[in-house]
Amino acid sequence: MPGIRKPGPIAPRFWRKVDIKGVDECWLWLASFGFRDYGKFKLNGTYVAAHRIAYELTFGPIEKGKIICHKCDNPSCCNPYHLFQGTQSDNNADKYRKGRGANQYYRQENAK
Ligand SMILES: [Zn+2]
Repeated sequence: MPGIRKPGPIAPRFWRKVDIKGVDECWLWLASFGFRDYGKFKLNGTYVAAHRIAYELTFGPIEKGKIICHKCDNPSCCNPYHLFQGTQSDNNADKYRKGRGANQYYRQENAK
């Protein structure tokens, strides 16, 4: 298991706002929320989704155009081990598999 990297001044400021627990548990964001249920963190004057920072601080920069998805389906979770890089369509496929996609509900309605 890689350790949490803490380069620069952002990391201590960031992790202080996260309820850090075991690797298998969700680390809930303790500060302000924006972006629906996602935590928000002020960085260089703009707000960035907290889980994206958690990912970058741990694993390095997010590839351009990629989004950070939650394995645990908990938008306020900042446990980097619950996060993975994906595309918007990966995220939709993931939602669909978990039965959360809008089409899925539509299909279930019509299946009756
Ligand atoms: Zn989680």
